[in-house]
Amino acid sequence: MRLYTHPACLQHDPGPGHPESPARLHAILAALDRDRFATLDRIEAPRASIDALERVHDPAYVARILASAPVDGVVRLDEDTLMSPASAEAALRAAGAVAAAVDAVLNERASRAFCAVRPPGHHATADQAMGFCLFNNVAVGAAHALAEHGLERVAIADFDVHHGNGTQDIFAREPRVLFVSSHQSPLYPGTGGADETGVGNLLNVPLPPQTGSRAFRETWEERLLPRLDAFRPQLLLVSAGFDAHRADPLAQLQLDADDYAWLTAQLVDIARLHAGGRVVSTLEGGYDLDALTTSAAAHVAALMS
Ligand SMILES: [Zn+2]
Repeated sequence: MRLYTHPACLQHDPGPGHPESPARLHAILAALDRDRFATLDRIEAPRASIDALERVHDPAYVARILASAPVDGVVRLDEDTLMSPASAEAALRAAGAVAAAVDAVLNERASRAFCAVRPPGHHATADQAMGFCLFNNVAVGAAHALAEHGLERVAIADFDVHHGNGTQDIFAREPRVLFVSSHQSPLYPGTGGADETGVGNLLNVPLPPQTGSRAFRETWEERLLPRLDAFRPQLLLVSAGFDAHRADPLAQLQLDADDYAWLTAQLVDIARLHAGGRVVSTLEGGYDLDALTTSAAAHVAALMS
């Protein structure tokens, strides 16, 4: 199994007090440095190509993001989304990680990969940065799999506590991509209602605040996992946000690290049934450092098994 990351992803800095801090990735990488992860094949993420970015983003938007990193300080793109001098490079490496990981699993150099990258991606739409996200990393990976590898069925499972509105927006009319998401509602960004079904390729399951492990697992077991199974994906991508943990300061779901291990094992089983075991997961949210670290480690350990 491969681990993709890049030093630039540690240098992207939205400023003091911002929850999406470099400390998040430092903590995850420190956890993945322990003995149980010694067999991870560590790869420096390449930059995404402009072509890869333009499969999901407007060319003018790509150019604007790449030109927006300030020489010093920070520049604000929306209320929550800021760029520092290293941010354009970090965004290129984050999207490039997912595209490269897709190549690796489809060329059978690995079965699974985790992209330990930031900025996260699932809120970025075709032409709008939002919710800490610049380029939509998982969408770049999915579009890359369709265009470069000729896949016909790519599934994206998004268990971040926030709805992946950007990913949904990008693929809402693309039947070759199935997007399934559980997320807290009401919560930012306010999308992800059960009635948002795209061209029959979206499954949104909003969960009320305070939903705990048991109801979360039942929901995946009864609704989201069967839908993934029925789609028979040739490749499974994961938007892995860990902010549904009970300790997370940005939301009110009540999961534990064990829930991420459980769900990841279920996702790997589906990938084994239909996709030759191929899973590419990429980091999205998770803002309590201890919860993020134990949850991400549980996720990666389950991907390795
Ligand atoms: Zn989130």
